[in-house]
Amino acid sequence: MSWEKLKGKFIVLDGPDGSGKSTQIEKLADLVREKGVEPVVLRDPGGTTIGEEIRQILLNPAHEKMSVRCETLLYMASRAQLYSQCIEPALQKGSCVLCDRWISSTYAYQAVAGEDGKEFILELAEAALLRTWPDRTIIIDVPTEISRGRLGESLDRMEAKSGSFHQKVRNGFLELAKGRDDFRVIDGTGPIEEIHEQVIEALGDYVNS
Ligand code: ADP
Repeated sequence: MSWEKLKGKFIVLDGPDGSGKSTQIEKLADLVREKGVEPVVLRDPGGTTIGEEIRQILLNPAHEKMSVRCETLLYMASRAQLYSQCIEPALQKGSCVLCDRWISSTYAYQAVAGEDGKEFILELAEAALLRTWPDRTIIIDVPTEISRGRLGESLDRMEAKSGSFHQKVRNGFLELAKGRDDFRVIDGTGPIEEIHEQVIEALGDYVNS
């Protein structure tokens, strides 16, 4: 099995809060490194000094008055910085970029759950970003009761939204994935090792020669 095809590839793990994205990205990064490909692990929003400041503004529970349109634009701004500062140079160097969240999150949270307009968000992403879509987006799907149950006591501004909001987020991810062949949906309810195997399988065409 050759992992060379992952060089210069942009891979995203996405899904609801508590779906296990950060856990799985770390495991995947270790494996990719072991196989001889340099992983660059990033998170969206964040990953740059500017992006981390935008992240603080977005997730601060005190910012309860933030409009969904403001949210959409801040997420997109953080992402624009992350792409030009980190993702594009890493891909050009032949690293494998592993990113926790991307456009799929803005689609699920702001377009579907926040009702900010699906077409608007997709068009905004096309206009604002040098590159809209990763090579592969893996959605970790978990029923809302399970993902919420995995979160700690101190919730950020997005995590603290209602159960029905988070149900819509889950549906938003599934809806987006349905129409795209660059997306894979995996079941995030089982043990960590089992999900890791599904993540590898979701990269199938890149890791099988
Ligand atoms: P996310 O980045 O999607 O918010 P995390 O990877 O931070 O999710 O996981 C949230 C919590 O759930 C962490 O405490 C993590 O250890 C735990 N967790 C992750 N994957 C699983 C799993 N498959 N089963 C049970 N708990 C898990």
